[in-house]
Amino acid sequence: MVKKYMKAAILVKPGNMEVREVPIPEPSYGWVRIKVKACGICGSDMHYYKGNYPELEPDSIIEEKVLGKTYGHEAAGIVDKPGEGVTGLKIGDRVVVIPPFSCMKCEYCRVGLYEDCMDLKIIGYEYPGGFAEYMNVPDRNLFVIPDDISFEEAATLDALTVGVHAVHRGGVSISDRVAVLGAGAIGIALIAVAKKAGAREIFVTAKHPLQRRIVEKMGVSKIYDPGEKGLAKKIISDACSMGVDCVFESVGVKGEVLEFGVSILRKGG
Ligand SMILES: [Zn+2]
Ligand SMILES: [Zn+2]
Repeated sequence: MVKKYMKAAILVKPGNMEVREVPIPEPSYGWVRIKVKACGICGSDMHYYKGNYPELEPDSIIEEKVLGKTYGHEAAGIVDKPGEGVTGLKIGDRVVVIPPFSCMKCEYCRVGLYEDCMDLKIIGYEYPGGFAEYMNVPDRNLFVIPDDISFEEAATLDALTVGVHAVHRGGVSISDRVAVLGAGAIGIALIAVAKKAGAREIFVTAKHPLQRRIVEKMGVSKIYDPGEKGLAKKIISDACSMGVDCVFESVGVKGEVLEFGVSILRKGG
């Protein structure tokens, strides 16, 4: 008998996600159904789950926008059924999901800035995501992963690409002193990529013990508690009394942390 239903986690109300039986989705033209093997929990997923929805307009109807959905955009899995018109992927391919689904028509898309698309949709937000046994994904939002990368590793790619993009934009190179504020998934990605880019010293603020342990293992110049007194002065003095060449803010709160970041930059940094 062909399986018709699957389990999917649905956000029923803030703080309450229920696993329900729902129909297995059919892929439409140009889309691919994948069997989900791993799916990361993003900071944004946690916001939706808890009921703080930072990017929603104040007057929007939260129920419509957020409840009743299946989240999870950091997904990896196996091609289960390519829809009509899909040529580059076949059943059994191991793939990772690229969440932003851009319109390919607006001014941003035309110059290749797909994430800035004026009509951007996210697979795992506007479209059902990977907290389910199966999900549908446009074929251009899937990349085949090498055999030696696990599904769990592939599911972290979303965070890692943020690190790659930011370090590239920051122009980090071999003589640079870098500060990474915050050591969550994005902070850790930033550290990993800044190291690869050859940063000579990396200074990190990490709030939680687990984050500190991970960062210690990665090998950075110094780890600070973000609540430390006189922290800006300390970092500046550790950075040759000049301040750092490049600061990355990965805490994700507006205001204070950004200002702090600017205050520890060297002249021209
Ligand atoms: Zn994410
Ligand atoms: Zn667009």
